Amino acid sequence: MAFTLPDLPFAKDALGDFMSAETLDYHHGKHHKAYVDKTNGMLAEKGLEGASLSEVIRAAKERGDKGLFNNSAQIWNHSFYWQCLAPAQGQKPTGKLAELIDQGFGSTTNLIGKLKEEAVGHFSNGWAWLILDQGALKITSLHDADTPLVHEGMKPLLTLDVWEHAYYIDYRNARPDFAEKVLSNIVNWDFVAQNLDGNGESRANQG
Ligand code: FE
Repeated sequence: MAFTLPDLPFAKDALGDFMSAETLDYHHGKHHKAYVDKTNGMLAEKGLEGASLSEVIRAAKERGDKGLFNNSAQIWNHSFYWQCLAPAQGQKPTGKLAELIDQGFGSTTNLIGKLKEEAVGHFSNGWAWLILDQGALKITSLHDADTPLVHEGMKPLLTLDVWEHAYYIDYRNARPDFAEKVLSNIVNWDFVAQNLDGNGESRANQG
């Protein structure tokens, strides 16, 4: 079965100036869609029809099939990313997530500062990640289409796309401004907290 482009979990204009409808038209409607279309176009020749998205990603990694890996991993990464965002309503981490953040980073402000540092310091295309590693929160980043799914012990909690296509329309070349605005205002902390169950992978999987 072919993979599909998941709907955005919010209206296209719901993120206001933090992430415009125009950015979402391109980023979701064109970039994310292209990864879906390209992956679907390869499944039959690779003998992977009927495999789930995560199975395709892992098979491509094992085979060293860069084209299939890059496109399929980007379907998953983007499907996860959209769920990490929500309209600005003053949302903050609560409960167990807030406790883990305080333990690991001292405060949510510090966590956001560290994530921003990782996002800004990441050279060229990639993704900044907050992950759960053996019960503790960790910040890291991965290059290009690379994804926590193929890294032992990396349970995905939150991600920020730092490819230029993620911010150029709204922020031009100002990645620090993009990271600051998004992380401080439109993170869906309830989704991040849900992923503490270690099942974040399943929330962007399909097939
Ligand atoms: Fe992207």
